[in-house]
Amino acid sequence: MSGEAPASAGRDARAVEDAAMGAMYQRFPVTVERGEGARVWDSSGREYLDFMGGYGVALVGHRNARVTEAIREQAGRIVTVHGSLYSNVRAAFLERLVSLAPRGLECAHLNNSGAEAVEAAIKFARKFTRRPRIVAMRGSYHGKSMGALSLTFSPKYRRPFEPLVEGVEFVPFGDAGAAREAITDDVGMVIVEPIQGESGIHVAPDGFLRGVREACDERGAVLAFDEIQAGLGRTGRMWACDHDGVAPDILCLAKGIAGGVPMGVTLARAEIVASMSRGEHSSTFGGNALSCAAGSATLEALTADGLVGNAAAVGRELHDGLARLARSHPSIREVRGRGLMVGIELRFDVREIIMGGIERGVLLLYSGRNTLRLLPPLVITRGDVARVLGALDGLLSEEEARRGIA
Ligand SMILES: *Cc1c(COP(=O)(O)O)cnc(C)c1O
Repeated sequence: MSGEAPASAGRDARAVEDAAMGAMYQRFPVTVERGEGARVWDSSGREYLDFMGGYGVALVGHRNARVTEAIREQAGRIVTVHGSLYSNVRAAFLERLVSLAPRGLECAHLNNSGAEAVEAAIKFARKFTRRPRIVAMRGSYHGKSMGALSLTFSPKYRRPFEPLVEGVEFVPFGDAGAAREAITDDVGMVIVEPIQGESGIHVAPDGFLRGVREACDERGAVLAFDEIQAGLGRTGRMWACDHDGVAPDILCLAKGIAGGVPMGVTLARAEIVASMSRGEHSSTFGGNALSCAAGSATLEALTADGLVGNAAAVGRELHDGLARLARSHPSIREVRGRGLMVGIELRFDVREIIMGGIERGVLLLYSGRNTLRLLPPLVITRGDVARVLGALDGLLSEEEARRGIA
């Protein structure tokens, strides 16, 4: 080592990262320094209202007091406890999570990301049913590791990496009849996002989840829900599938579950987990003490601080406000979603709107080329909703004028 300061010390993070990280991320010109609740500040001290929410990871708000304190305390005690040893912190997290889980899901495999939560689901269902095939939905997104990618619909993500896991069939999202036809006796797992996140925020139509549930039961297939983005209160209920009164056999979670500390969880029925033998699946980091402490604090924040109820109440204001905007802006094609998981489909590419939002101090997200996506922390207030609605009103008016849309 030369003893020199790291390259980033005196340089723009953007230059360093662009050189070192390749072009895999679509990037926006904000260098984030710190956060608090639904706000972040850049390195020059400029404030932004964060409706991007780290793609949903900032579920309980940036620097949530409970989570920050839990991390601080746990870091002062121990960070890593491997799954081959016991941990009171892990046990407390598991108890709390299972007590909140959809009925019948009593066991959990702890890992570190959404893709890993899906990988475990694939292996669990394969081992439990000993059937080779999987049914997934058109428009699905389940992650980008090779197994999860095999269940992800977008050809753009899949094509360059084929061959993927064999035996996956995609059926139209929302068509229970097509799903029923595809669920033959050699299908081990059906995987569904109750609200599709990456393909433009599409809510499962009424009766669809129930229809798929019934078809799985008739055929002996495992039903997995991927609530990595929609779960944990975001839709105004603890689980997105609660809106339909349907419970899965496996539930994949990640994103905000540990307040921003990496964690994925594969919740499953006890008999499914019991089909796995020693050594057949594991994760070195999975269930470490730091993420479990942060996870417990996150679940506490969601329940004790009323964040799920807030998502429902503030979400209603947001949807009402967006419905008003849709009436006065011809550029809005459709508003979709539930609670604080919202898609606003426009008649044009949303990148200009996102860039304009940055200028106005609001961070927005896209979901496909034409859909703006809002995934704010569940701690947002009515004032924050009014602020984002005002910003959108102005941004859409400007863009409509520029494009001559009347
Ligand atoms: C983000 C996401 C994933 C993948 O999670 P990673 O942590 O990025 O691997 C999978 N499924 C859904 C629905 C997601 O939103």
